Amino acid sequence: MITIEEALGIIKDQEVSLKTEIRNLSDCLGFSLSEDILASFDMPSFDNSAMDGYALCGISKEYHIIGEVAAGDSGELTLKEGEAVRIFTGAKVPENTTAVMMQEKTSLSGKQLFLEQEPKKGQSIRKKGEELKKNQVVFEKGYTITPAGIGMIGSLGIDKVEVFKKPVINLITTGNELVKPGNPKPEGHIYESNSYALAAAGENYGFSCQDKKQIEDDFEAIKTGIKKSLETADILILSGGISVGDYDFVKQALEENGVEEQFYKVFQKPGKPLYFGRKEDKFVFALPGNPASSLSCFYIYVLPLLFKLSGSKKSGLEAYSFPVSHNYENKSDRPSFLKAKITNAKAEILDGQGSSMILSMALGNALVFLEAETPVKKGDTVKCFLIS
Ligand code: AMP
Ligand code: MG
Repeated sequence: MITIEEALGIIKDQEVSLKTEIRNLSDCLGFSLSEDILASFDMPSFDNSAMDGYALCGISKEYHIIGEVAAGDSGELTLKEGEAVRIFTGAKVPENTTAVMMQEKTSLSGKQLFLEQEPKKGQSIRKKGEELKKNQVVFEKGYTITPAGIGMIGSLGIDKVEVFKKPVINLITTGNELVKPGNPKPEGHIYESNSYALAAAGENYGFSCQDKKQIEDDFEAIKTGIKKSLETADILILSGGISVGDYDFVKQALEENGVEEQFYKVFQKPGKPLYFGRKEDKFVFALPGNPASSLSCFYIYVLPLLFKLSGSKKSGLEAYSFPVSHNYENKSDRPSFLKAKITNAKAEILDGQGSSMILSMALGNALVFLEAETPVKKGDTVKCFLIS
């Protein structure tokens, strides 16, 4: 049995070979850049107005209006002291503009413009290059593209980006007792929910599952299923059958498929019987079947590898420290990831911490880490991993 840190270290240290592809701007959300993006021009590329109002030359309270510049006009005007032009947001300011005054603070009499107060030099002008300078690195390789990132890249005039391909994920659930939701449930059976939860957890971080299989607790069937799944997967995630029960065939089936164990069993709760292996450049996680264990292990262990395999700089869930909202004692003899809810910057450790209990996770938004047999008092700071 290894510690949580050791397990995470083994995942982090895996050598991976990444492939790249060119994607359209509109189709690159959540992908990570495989090369730096540089600004090919200053941003903004010309001095422009931040307001609808008047571009002014000189500091005064009265100006003579000589024309108008709208957004998109080339703005080839030159102002002289005491002159102004009507201007609109985003329009290029004329040569010699001292400041722009918003129209709400002005009044007009024919071509004469009166200000409530004198402008300050540079007021309401967005200066050329104030956001970015030409040739500046805007995003580094490994940046995971967000909606705002797409906006930024588009505003640089770029319509195609080179990104790392995302890993192909295949999923196998095992268990004789499992019935697909929507079907009648014979006595002694339960509904198969892990494949849905795991696939959805991946989706939330931009990773989709390519293929899902449900297999009985039958050694040969599991062995064949793993073999087939590994043909297309970069990462194969199994759920169930990895513990020490008589029907837990997954580990042996992986071995017989040439998958090399990287670790098996982590000193933690939930998720002790967690398995991680690799076969050449394909990776395998076998997660315990208990719904909360499998999902918890996905967030803590699988997600970091998914980020790594997609070339992202992200290393896992975002972690923050928050005070707990109540006294709590971790009675487990193992370090624990506890289902919790963060509200108003306070962590509430929820009822229903059993490995099979997923309701608390569904109602919460974080996993709180506590060392084994550790009491915490209201107000003590705890490490919280945010889940979305
Ligand atoms: P196992 O890891 O196969 O020993 O399963 C541990 C527990 O998780 C058992 O109570 C299983 O019935 C349950 N379980 C296993 N797989 C799933 C699944 N895909 N969906 C929901 N529960 C599961
Ligand atoms: Mg089972």
